Amino acid sequence: MGKTALISGITGQDGSYLAELLLAKGYTVHGLLRRSSSFNTERIDHIYQGPQHPERTLVLHHADLSDGVALVNLLRETEPDEVYNLGAQSHVRVSFDTPLYTADTTGLGTLRLLEAIRASGVDTRIYQASSSEMFGSTPPPQNEDTPFHPRSPYGCAKVYGYWSTVNYREAYGMFAVNGILFNHESPRRGETFVTRKITRAVARIGAGLQDRLYLGNLDAVRDWGYAPEYVEAMWLMLQRDEPDDYVVATGVPATVRDFLQAAFAAGGLEWERYVRFDPKYERPSEVDALVGDPAKAERLLGWRPRTHWRELAELMVAADREALDAELSGATVRIDR
Ligand code: NDP
Ligand code: GDP
Repeated sequence: MGKTALISGITGQDGSYLAELLLAKGYTVHGLLRRSSSFNTERIDHIYQGPQHPERTLVLHHADLSDGVALVNLLRETEPDEVYNLGAQSHVRVSFDTPLYTADTTGLGTLRLLEAIRASGVDTRIYQASSSEMFGSTPPPQNEDTPFHPRSPYGCAKVYGYWSTVNYREAYGMFAVNGILFNHESPRRGETFVTRKITRAVARIGAGLQDRLYLGNLDAVRDWGYAPEYVEAMWLMLQRDEPDDYVVATGVPATVRDFLQAAFAAGGLEWERYVRFDPKYERPSEVDALVGDPAKAERLLGWRPRTHWRELAELMVAADREALDAELSGATVRIDR
């Protein structure tokens, strides 16, 4: 019999790639779906199987990380071998506007899921989606031993989730791991994160639908990798004999300006003609530089990054141009790439 996994955040960027990966490995995948007044399953529609499907291996359940009882019930019902906690209010800028909500879903939500595993008595392994934002103002390169100094409510909430995960491992012997992932992007990245905001704008400016792009700080340094490769690392962490924490990154730095230049060049455009500054997109406290050292993941998981920021900019521009062409011609926009 194949294994069973439960994914919170299955409708997000990473959840959708992880669901594809696990289905391809023969898993039955259960996903936690938030109630929304409009459809929120666009990223997984291409793998969705309806309730009438005779042998369905992807099942969605309404639940929420703010509802601990629903989590206990879901664990009892699905009895997963592996749990992936990817659900979160994941936007750093938005976390300054909604700090308590972010702490509740991103921080306490992790504790609720850990405690739900304990309360349900289900024998499972859990992956926690920790973040390079926890390092905040501690200078790069950052690895598993680098002290945390978060610079946003999001970063603080992720630190809480990180330590809760370590605590459940130490207190209850739970197979609980933290993947400390640096920024990772794809054509499925949320439209308000800087990479996707830029690559969508390139497509729209190229098509004559937009003539300005407003951005904030262009000097920030990030370590951008490719999301489908990063979900492989999540899975590898849960296949080890012992639980541990791992940094997942490319180790290659680039500024927002570098990414901007590469993306506009991929669209045959000069960014200086179109980009304007808007302080609205600055953060009250910024994370200046994140550059990870993935040596431990390379050594123990055999994981290596294959796609770096320049190729990433090019593939995201190509995907956004293709999606826009399809939209303008009235064709169905396919997301399964
Ligand atoms: P997304 O923002 O694309 O997805 C977040 C997911 O969480 C969505 O499925 C969302 O549902 C769900 N969610 C939000 N609030 C709740 C809630 N209260 N209860 C249940 N589910 C909820 O994030 P990514 O896929 O990019 O990231 C996955 C995880 O990894 C997140 O925890 C993120 O913080 C973390 N991370 C991401 C990095 C990155 O660069 N992408 C880097 C490091 C860590 P809905 O679709 O309904 O909004
Ligand atoms: P983050 O690293 O998780 O905060 O990912 P983002 O993609 O949201 O931001 C990456 C960097 O881009 C941060 O340093 C932002 O300050 C910077 N940035 C500059 N302009 C923008 C913008 O318009 N939107 C976003 N989201 N970030 C911007």
